[in-house]
Amino acid sequence: MSATPATPVLQTQGLGRRFGGLHAVSDVSFSVPEGQTLGVIGPNGAGKSTFINLVTGHIKPTSGTVLIDGKDLTGARPWVIAHAGVARTFQIVKPFRGMTVRENVAVGILYGPHGTGLMSKAREAADEVLEEVGLAHLGNRAPGELSVADARRLEFAKALALRPRLLLLDEVMAGLRHSEIEPSLELIGQLKARGITIVVVEHVMRAILAISDQVLVLHQGKVLTAGDPREVLSDPRVVEAYLGHRYAQRRGGKR
Ligand code: ADP
Ligand code: MG
Repeated sequence: MSATPATPVLQTQGLGRRFGGLHAVSDVSFSVPEGQTLGVIGPNGAGKSTFINLVTGHIKPTSGTVLIDGKDLTGARPWVIAHAGVARTFQIVKPFRGMTVRENVAVGILYGPHGTGLMSKAREAADEVLEEVGLAHLGNRAPGELSVADARRLEFAKALALRPRLLLLDEVMAGLRHSEIEPSLELIGQLKARGITIVVVEHVMRAILAISDQVLVLHQGKVLTAGDPREVLSDPRVVEAYLGHRYAQRRGGKR
């Protein structure tokens, strides 16, 4: 046995982001070992998407550090971080409208870390990824023609096309019907089995329980608690954070 523990794929130290006077994310120190899945939960406005954006370089931190495979990439540009093996989905899907589903994926491949610069090769690789996510039959369609579930799959395919070591998923199950959640879980399960390290932001608790090795709870930008999924989800403070938030929303109160 080695005396030094393996370097985590993702490590944040005191990570924070202010927007004016608002602390959207504060002092988040956390690490995700290789091959593990971290579930991130918390009420709306808790800072979950901002946390993802800080890791992927889409937003620059105002404090703290982000290490990918032990390398300090704090504040690096998104494509630099992508080239370090990091891919993500967006909570709000943003396909390129003038292109087919296949081309949407191919573009990511072309400009991604493993791109060869050849569109024909990129198209072939895109078809492989579309097959993996169950969209092979819709490659020639326009993204606007896709159902909500298929649009989410396309988001997935665009991220997977980069062949990431670390994949961050921002509410990929939002708006899905009950019957559509299972295939999505299966897909994440397959990625896990391949050894991809995953950070998943999700409100669907049965999904969080099914796929997470650890759960991190954000509340008002701070870590409320973290650890074993079942323990965390039964923690009265976590229940309170969710219920308190719903109550406040019903009353038209502030978050
Ligand atoms: P979550 O994903 O958990 O719902 P977000 O990370 O989107 O939460 O937002 C956390 C807080 O930061 C919210 O109060 C939100 O309004 C605020 N926020 C997020 N992005 C910005 C931004 N670009 N400018 C100003 N405020 C922002
Ligand atoms: Mg969000």
